[in-house]
Amino acid sequence: MSEEKKSKLLAKELFYKKTNVFEAKTAEERSAMMAFAEDYKAWLDASKTEREAVDETVKILEAAGFKKYTLGDKVNAGDKLYLNNRGKSLFAISVGSEPIEYGVRIMASHIDSPRIDLKPNPLFENDGVGYFKTHYYGGIRKYQWATIPLALHGVVTKSDGTTVKVTVGEDAGDPVLCISDLLPHLAKDQYQKTLAQAFTGEGLNIMICSSPYIDEDGEVAYDGVRLNVMSILNEKYGIVETDFLSAELTAVPAGKSVDVGLDRWLIGGYGHDDRCCAYTSLRAILEAGDTVHTNIVALADKEETGSCGVTGMRCTLLMDITANLAASFDANESVVRSNSLCLSADVAAAFDPNYPEVYEKRNSAILHCGVALAKYTGSGGKGNTNDTSAEYVGLVRKIFDDAKVVWQMAELGKVDQGGGGTVAMYISEHNIDTIDIGVPVISMHAPFEIISKADLYEAYEAFAAFCK
Ligand SMILES: [Zn+2]
Repeated sequence: MSEEKKSKLLAKELFYKKTNVFEAKTAEERSAMMAFAEDYKAWLDASKTEREAVDETVKILEAAGFKKYTLGDKVNAGDKLYLNNRGKSLFAISVGSEPIEYGVRIMASHIDSPRIDLKPNPLFENDGVGYFKTHYYGGIRKYQWATIPLALHGVVTKSDGTTVKVTVGEDAGDPVLCISDLLPHLAKDQYQKTLAQAFTGEGLNIMICSSPYIDEDGEVAYDGVRLNVMSILNEKYGIVETDFLSAELTAVPAGKSVDVGLDRWLIGGYGHDDRCCAYTSLRAILEAGDTVHTNIVALADKEETGSCGVTGMRCTLLMDITANLAASFDANESVVRSNSLCLSADVAAAFDPNYPEVYEKRNSAILHCGVALAKYTGSGGKGNTNDTSAEYVGLVRKIFDDAKVVWQMAELGKVDQGGGGTVAMYISEHNIDTIDIGVPVISMHAPFEIISKADLYEAYEAFAAFCK
């Protein structure tokens, strides 16, 4: 047996080294990761919009005994509750045994993802083809959304006040929709344009129909393609064109998430950002059972467009819930907030070996090296960011280390390359210590994003340790 040299031992003790999940975890733990990923994929595939994510999650919460909560309800220790905000954002609450003045633990993610929304008056016909005009939602790279199969999801509220749910393109045998692109043989002019110029918002028209309505006498109707679209939609959903004005219809990538790579350690799919954090935090609160701390899982809408509106994180609802919990125990809500802690759960950018030039590798999230913490996000010299304290990083670090969570610290990319934000600053402005944490993603905001099953599982373990 050879003894290790002092320098080697010292290096082990003194140096920071990222932990790779494959070095740190046992075969048994690795198979648990694989199994967890299957549960996640099923939930993700059923949750392509924030509304669907809320519906799916409410089913899971109710099956686990969570009861519907309305602001003003009195709560007791041990209560498991959920608040469904307009079908688009959701709060799961588990009331702990310790005094509420000790604060609540919040895990806040978002369940909206970049996509292509229909305009309020979307339908038009051009040279025999029917199209939907669109207005994209969130930060998309437009060229990525052409020539891929798209599915239509959403709701339409009719003149009688009833709302119908629309889903086209997901079931086997369903037709899909598509945005076309030029053939290379005729793209000479387009090749000369920059990426930003070559694809425009007004150019993202979705092909919806290519045949006209034919009358009973065999004659093609006037405005026939447009009429054909409305006739098909009317038969299936009972809607007329005016109903588009009170609709939320959106095109998302059709199809299911799949394993990527021969070894199956990656998942490719639509909307990992940020449903991978939503699902892992949900599982954590479900499996925590009765806890000492009061835990809240917040699944927000509208993050991709700035967290505005009544279902976004800038709405007062999360703080209203905290205040209501405080009131239930005759506690001072500002004291509750001041002692509360938050994990702002949103995906990180994974270092992409195919594009190393935009990353600063030493401070990037590396695939399979666990869930990523970010002390700050923002852009241009830490602009618009929460930038949490060393003390709070230290506290979270200890929680994770004690629970043997594999985690890494990461920035988005090179300092002057761009940037991004999360809901963190909209929570910390209420006097709640908040840090960003999330699963690293390759091709973030693309129709087909990629994450690691190992990092997904470590996010779940991190949330489980936080809310225990
Ligand atoms: Zn996100």
